[in-house]
Amino acid sequence: MQTIIPLSPPVLLPIAGSLVGFPVRRVYCVGRNYAAHAIEMGHDPDREPPFFFQKNPDNLLVADRAFPYPPRTTDVHHEVELVVALKRGGADIPVEQALDCVYGYAVGIDFTRRDLQAEAKKAGKPWAAAKAFEHSAPVSEIVPVEAIGHPVNGNIWLKVNGELRQHGDLDQMIWKIPEVISELSRLFTLAPGDIIMTGTPSGVGPVVRGDTVTCGVDGVAALAVTVL
Ligand code: MN
Repeated sequence: MQTIIPLSPPVLLPIAGSLVGFPVRRVYCVGRNYAAHAIEMGHDPDREPPFFFQKNPDNLLVADRAFPYPPRTTDVHHEVELVVALKRGGADIPVEQALDCVYGYAVGIDFTRRDLQAEAKKAGKPWAAAKAFEHSAPVSEIVPVEAIGHPVNGNIWLKVNGELRQHGDLDQMIWKIPEVISELSRLFTLAPGDIIMTGTPSGVGPVVRGDTVTCGVDGVAALAVTVL
């Protein structure tokens, strides 16, 4: 069928060492997956079931690395996260089979309008305006599993203007990658092209216009973003 308006182009993430792109279908995010971050946000770090929210594929900041400071906020926070890219999906995926679904890994930033999130939390309202805004998810190139395997530990870090703000280790995740995929697949039918932002270590804080944000997961990828 022809379309009444132009089709939206697919969002493609670059793949390390490759000329082909990774087409993104959905963007899932895990909340409070590092105990130290749960504590800094005023929550109990006990192992409650993971919870999820979403960003839109076209919220990804892919091509250029300039992050325009968003409107209607004065408190945008950085959250560095390991990103998982799926080549396979399904529903009710057992933990033991979950890693078979992974194509590769990247590092990303879950930029958050913290002031709007705080208002939403207080009012019991959704987080969409706090999380799923334009350019809110810069993501690095994807590094295939065949190149690096499945990272289970390693530094995850973020600097603002060269100053270390966030630092943790992947082994501090409350819910590990296979568990995250399995739990997510009990709520949603996953599919090739889905990506998952797996939560942030402690040290989240504000950025302002002119800041240069660098971040990485050692052994996976690094990323640099300028706040406009
Ligand atoms: Mn996050």
